[in-house]
Amino acid sequence: MTKKLTILIIILFSLSIQSLNAKEYRWEKKLTFLGLLKRYHIPQKIYYNMDREDRELIQEIKVGQSYTVIKEHKRIKRIDIPISDELMLNIKRTKKGFVAKYIPIPYKLIEKTISIRKKYGFKKDLYYATKSWYFGKELEAVYSKAIPFHKMRKGDRIIIFYTQKYRHNKAYSNPQIEACLIEVRGKPFYGFLFKDKYYDSAGKQYHRTFVYNKSGFIRPIINMKRISSGFTQRRYHPILHRYRAHLGIDYAARYGSKIIASSSGTIIYRGWKGGYGRVIKIRHKNGVVTLYAHMSRFAKGLHVGSYVHQGRVIGYVGTSGRSTGPHLHFGLYKNGRAINPARYVKRKKVSKQVKLKGNNYKKLRKLVKHYRPQFAETKRKIIIKKESSRCLNCFKHLPKR
Ligand SMILES: [Zn+2]
Repeated sequence: MTKKLTILIIILFSLSIQSLNAKEYRWEKKLTFLGLLKRYHIPQKIYYNMDREDRELIQEIKVGQSYTVIKEHKRIKRIDIPISDELMLNIKRTKKGFVAKYIPIPYKLIEKTISIRKKYGFKKDLYYATKSWYFGKELEAVYSKAIPFHKMRKGDRIIIFYTQKYRHNKAYSNPQIEACLIEVRGKPFYGFLFKDKYYDSAGKQYHRTFVYNKSGFIRPIINMKRISSGFTQRRYHPILHRYRAHLGIDYAARYGSKIIASSSGTIIYRGWKGGYGRVIKIRHKNGVVTLYAHMSRFAKGLHVGSYVHQGRVIGYVGTSGRSTGPHLHFGLYKNGRAINPARYVKRKKVSKQVKLKGNNYKKLRKLVKHYRPQFAETKRKIIIKKESSRCLNCFKHLPKR
């Protein structure tokens, strides 16, 4: 390439940047999705052409959250509206008009390391090291009853490799523990994250306990047929070539089956909510809100402000809001973020020891091999919440799990 041409390209490039104008806004209280389309002169059919699942997700847009409007030559080029930690709705101008689809929110994933020795208690020590109770609570949940934590001695090691998402240089969403080690009287207990669950290096699964179970949430439906759709933050549909999320659990049930309050709390919403149809929302303790959607009708005598006890019938299963068969969509939010309700809802205890086999076992062993030298190296030093430069973005090179 000649020098002149390079310069020309640079000039053109900077010009195109100048004509692009990105602005961040906050979602106002009264703003609806259709209202937003109207404001920017985007055809409403964008919404009406959406299918059931896409419409449901629109309801996840929260008041006060930020969205970005990008203009080019004072014309709307695209609008990005996050609907969860992982996905955003992207409305884009194309030659054929505006199109809307869900795409992953771009982020930077950084791997970090914590390596300390027990002094007071592992949870307290982790708190002193990181100024957060998160890691201690997570470790306790990961290992659950597999480790006699109380037998730990002074000097026992605690090592955590975790990843943290960053957007615009700000951390967001919870850190994810990828691999960890706890010593109990010098005996090492390794944990590796594989397909959302933790295993030891031989592929035996740790039975994770969910701390939240103590807060007592029960399955919100009495006669369910089956779970027709589970919770996913993000999944890619290989045939439709698009991203989706399902921020709740769908319980298929007969039309008119009773829906009950999963836990005691106060009703904060009762009415129609777009793709979710007839909805009740209940606020519980500790910033938890539950959502019950697609009801055929509400139970009598309930309104916003009513206090309902756990197990109280609040409505009946239906198909309102364009859902397919009759089912209850049950969502659970902690401090406004959608969480897998399965983490909260009590289930029967599984006593069977799960052990990875075949291909999955091989994949886990790859993970173990990936981390082995890192554990060995980390053991030699005390690291308090350090970005491991060697490992910066090394997540990319991690074996698939
Ligand atoms: Zn659903």
